[in-house]
Amino acid sequence: MPHRHALWLLGLIAVAVLAGGFSGWYFGPAMLQVAWLGELFLSALKMLIVPLIVAAVISSITGLGDIRRLGRVGWMTLAYYISTTAMAVLIGLLMVNLIQPGVGMETAGLVVPEGVAGKTDTGVADIVLSLVAPNIVQAAADTKLLPVIFFSIVFGLALTTLGERGRNLTLFFDGLNETMMKLVVWLMYLAPIGIFALVASRLGRAGGGVAFFVQIKAVGLHVVTVIAGLGVHFLLLFIVLGLFAGRGLPYLVSMARALITAFGTASSSATLPMTLECAEEAGVDSRAARFVIPLGSTINMDGTALYEAAAVMFIAQAYGLDMSLGQQAIIFLTATLAAVGAAGIPEAGLVTMVIVLEAVGLPLEGIGLLLAVDWFLDRFRTSVNVWGDAVGAALVDRRMRGRFGPPTT
Ligand code: ASP
Repeated sequence: MPHRHALWLLGLIAVAVLAGGFSGWYFGPAMLQVAWLGELFLSALKMLIVPLIVAAVISSITGLGDIRRLGRVGWMTLAYYISTTAMAVLIGLLMVNLIQPGVGMETAGLVVPEGVAGKTDTGVADIVLSLVAPNIVQAAADTKLLPVIFFSIVFGLALTTLGERGRNLTLFFDGLNETMMKLVVWLMYLAPIGIFALVASRLGRAGGGVAFFVQIKAVGLHVVTVIAGLGVHFLLLFIVLGLFAGRGLPYLVSMARALITAFGTASSSATLPMTLECAEEAGVDSRAARFVIPLGSTINMDGTALYEAAAVMFIAQAYGLDMSLGQQAIIFLTATLAAVGAAGIPEAGLVTMVIVLEAVGLPLEGIGLLLAVDWFLDRFRTSVNVWGDAVGAALVDRRMRGRFGPPTT
């Protein structure tokens, strides 16, 4: 997309969020009339995800050329994911200990929310098992992205070993990737309408301005704690970006379309096409972007990790239970895992939070406290999730340039 168009579009998308917020606030449930427009935009984004991931991951790996390079990029990427997610959880814990948002909350009469009730047996083994699907077509049809990514990685690796015999297939996936990215650019032009409709109808569903205000007020400090924590983490990632990737504000501006789309859709997976497009447009080596971003969109969720730690501590405080340092260490570990296990879809973090609550023996009913505002906080944490992937791609890009020379595409 030409740079001038990208800037115009960014302006329009920003206006769309504000106008959507205002209309949802002012007209309330009446804005449900435009929900179908948002749905259409979301469906179009989702339509691109599976073929885009397959093509992007395979062409990234064949672009890297050999297994040792992938090994190095893989380790770098994992080290980045783990250290930043851990940093996010720490910030979440720190903020809750400082602000103490749960103290004095009313917990009588809470029940385990539907949708969470059936998930009580999710464990670490399930997260590992979710990497490999017995039927990859079924996994793709169900948009289970982790097995699709895993399959694409091993497929790409096998392809790199074929030499001349694999050439046609390599070119095929490169071409498929280019075509998918073209579709992303086309779809991006519709983002302002889609995002307007998504934001307006969601706020409308929450009952409009007054109802929304009442919901926020009930758990006000929790909302403040989470948004402040996410803000701090966002800034820290920005510093990491400057220190380790040598990039700054222009990169943030380039990524802004993806970040606002994340806010509008509350889904890192649905935003993935936009994230890739923005990163490549900002000059990130396509081999880095196509590897780090798809994988990150399902396993690197800093915002979700921060949120889960903060929310669980909030629930503990609401029930008047003191969390010892040891218990907070368990929260630290399990929140990191729960974020890895969360799918990149709206409010997935609320469900995987069960892992954390069970690990420290807190009542699942506590999730009931968070329900009314979760859809709202979800948007902020999803934007941070996407920002984490974007910064990771820039970082790996920087390291790769030093080691492997200039980009191939
Ligand atoms: N909605 C988030 C995402 O897609 C996941 C979550 O619920 O935290 O990244």
